[in-house]
Order: sequence, then C-alpha cells, then structure tokens
Amino acid sequence: MDRLFVIHYNELGLKKGNRDYFENALCGNINAALQNCGTERPKRISGRILLPLSSSADVSEIKKRLARVFGIAYFGEAWASAQAVENLEVNAWGLMEGYSFKSFRIEARRGDKTFPHTSVEINQRVGAYVKERSGARVDLENAEMTCWIEIVEKYALIYLERLPGPGGLPVGTSGKVVVLLSGGIDSPVAAWKMIKRGCTPVFVHFHSFPYTNKESQEKAKRIVQLLSHYAFRAKIYLVPFAEVQRHIMVDTPLETRVILYRRYMLRLAEQIARQEKARVLVTGDSVGQVASQTIENIDVISRAVEMPTLRPLIGDDKVEIIEIARQIGTYDISIQPDQDCCSLFVPKHPETKANLAEIEKSEARLNVGDAMKAAMDASEVLLEYPSYATGAVRQL
Ligand code: ATP
Ligand code: MG
Repeated sequence: MDRLFVIHYNELGLKKGNRDYFENALCGNINAALQNCGTERPKRISGRILLPLSSSADVSEIKKRLARVFGIAYFGEAWASAQAVENLEVNAWGLMEGYSFKSFRIEARRGDKTFPHTSVEINQRVGAYVKERSGARVDLENAEMTCWIEIVEKYALIYLERLPGPGGLPVGTSGKVVVLLSGGIDSPVAAWKMIKRGCTPVFVHFHSFPYTNKESQEKAKRIVQLLSHYAFRAKIYLVPFAEVQRHIMVDTPLETRVILYRRYMLRLAEQIARQEKARVLVTGDSVGQVASQTIENIDVISRAVEMPTLRPLIGDDKVEIIEIARQIGTYDISIQPDQDCCSLFVPKHPETKANLAEIEKSEARLNVGDAMKAAMDASEVLLEYPSYATGAVRQL
C-alpha cells in the first residue's frame, strides 16, 4: 500500500465561491511548511488534501509541522488501498494486527457516493473481519482503536490515528495586518491569533537604543522567527523611537507620557501599514491589564490614527494569554528581561482616564515631525524564516 497523509479542513468548505482560492492557499502553505521532509506536492481531491510520501519521509517531523498549518482541521498518516471490500478487510486488519486492543470500531466514509457499498456496509464487513481475527469487541462509543476508511476517487484511504490541526484559515487569505510587537507576553499572542485567522503579519518593534540595550530588538526578532513557523516568513521593522520620545518629554505632563508614546507608535505603524498596503493595526491590549489599557485610554490612543486598531486579546485574562504563549513557545522568550522603550522616562502613577482634548493640546505644542521622519528612515527591516528554512535571516 502507498503511504501518504490525508489532510482535512472544515471551515474552508463553507466558503463556496472562494473554495479554490482557499484550498490552493492551504496547499501552498503545506508545501512551505514541509520543506525537506520527504513529501511530494500536496494534491487536492474531493474535499481533502493528499500528501504522498517518499520512502525517506520524516513522519514525526511532518506531524509536528502540519500541526502548525492554519486551515487544517485534522490529519492522519494513511495507506492507500484498492477499493474492493476484500482489499479493505485485508488492509485494515494488516494495519491493526500489530496493536493490542480490546475494543475497536471501523469508521468508513464515502467521498464518492457512486461506490457500490454504503458506509454502514463497509463498517459491518470490515468490522466482522477484524472482530474474528482480533477477538476484540466492537464499541462505537469508546473504542480503544478506531480505523478510518475514506473512499475517494480511485483509492480507499485507511488510517488509525487522527491528529488535530490548529484550525483557523490559511495564512495569506485574510489580508495584511501591521502588528505592534513589544518584547512582552501579549503582543506575540495577539499576532498569533491574527495569523490563525489567515492574516499576513508585518511586525513593527519600537526600541530606544542606544538609551537602552539591544535586548528588546533581539527578543522581537526571536519572537518573529518563532511566529514564522506559523506564517512561513515574516517581515519585521525595527524602529528607533528614542528621538520621538525625547521630543514628547520636552513639554508634556509626566502622567500622560505613555499615552503619547502609544499614539506616536500607532502613527508610525500606520505609515508603515500604508507603505505595506496593510489595512489595520494590531496590538496586544487587554482591558484594564495595565494603566494604559483602560477603556478611556484605549479610546484616546485609538484616535491618533485613521486605521482601525484591532485588539484580539481585549477580553482575555492574563492567565489565558499566558497559556497560549506557552503553547506556541513565545512565553520563554517574552519573560527574558529587557529594557522596554516605554519604561524609560515614565511616572509611577500614569493617567488612567485620558482626556482627548488635553492630549491633543499637548501634541499641538510638540514638534515631532522631523523626528518621526528620521525614525522611519532609520528603521531596519528584516525577513525572518522558520528554523528549517534555508537562508534563515535575510537583510532586505
Ligand atoms: P505586551 O505584553 O505585548 O508588551 P503589555 O501588557 O506589556 O503588552 P503595554 O506595554 O502597555 O502592555 O503595550 C500595549 C501594546 O502596545 C502591546 O501589546 C504592543 O502591541 C504595543 N507596544 C508596546 N510597546 C511596544 C514596542 N516597544 N514596540 C511595538 N509595540 C509596542
Ligand atoms: Mg509590554
């Protein structure tokens, strides 16, 4: 029997008009994720994707990588059999006999409704065959072992292990977003959630080097590299922010500084978004988590730009955010100490109820235009790739 992976998606099926577009994007992403794993190009057939394997295929690595390809509902390593029920009996048992189990079930599905047997008939025939040889009982509810059989086109696919995919939509199908990425715990998770929904991220990190060390930039790069395992490649802008901060400090009340910093960060990020043809900005804010994230402050900060600022973590608790950060691996990087640009020159008791008119009055006194332009001009732009990709980091 030929060995292959069978890959299922669910939400994509709902998008009737766009189905080709989504499936092709998913195939492209699977291909990008499986570099050097010994797979052939993924093939679309009636509602699933087949991934033929070479004899040298690294199955455990393939499983690890597919688990990060958004758009996949579930997948399994399968064997292609001839479709005759006699073949199904022999081949299903051939796969199962190496295991010991007290209960089992056969779960057949016909992708091709012209197949002469119904799924129930297949289940009964193959079930009886396996029961006789294994001595195990059939249990439809709580079987120790399940054997899936999918009748599709010219094959029957048989497999014993169904692994969960990460859900979501294929990256690249939902448009581009600019993510404001600090070195903290939250913004990487916010980015991951947007990537999960099919968005292509462009990252922007503001740093205050040389007033701070380079640690925050190194962290941001490592986080982007890690997230590129989900996005396949990702661009990051490292923007020097210290001069803008110095201008803000000259003549503004101490308590409102973080709000002003955030408004100028959004403005610079919006310029980058226009350049990149991205439509929205993304931050890691969650209501009330820190002083700058009260509803009043979120309101005033958002009004600095025309573009919408999406906040995918807005209703999440810190523990929930940390849980995802741990799962995706960004947590350990985020908790490394760094010198965040916003911890420079800020008060102990920041404003929690910003007033837009007052903030705008402060800003009218500032003369930040040149510093903003200089920050944009001095930005460093890098492309990060997954660790398995060739040419890991490339300067643009
Ligand atoms: P995080 O854990 O993402 O740092 P936080 O809870 O520490 O978030 P803040 O530091 O107030 O909250 O930052 C709020 C959001 O502003 C961040 O999630 C991020 O999107 C953006 N942000 C803050 N600092 C920076 C920075 N230096 N560069 C880019 N974006 C930043
Ligand atoms: Mg932070």
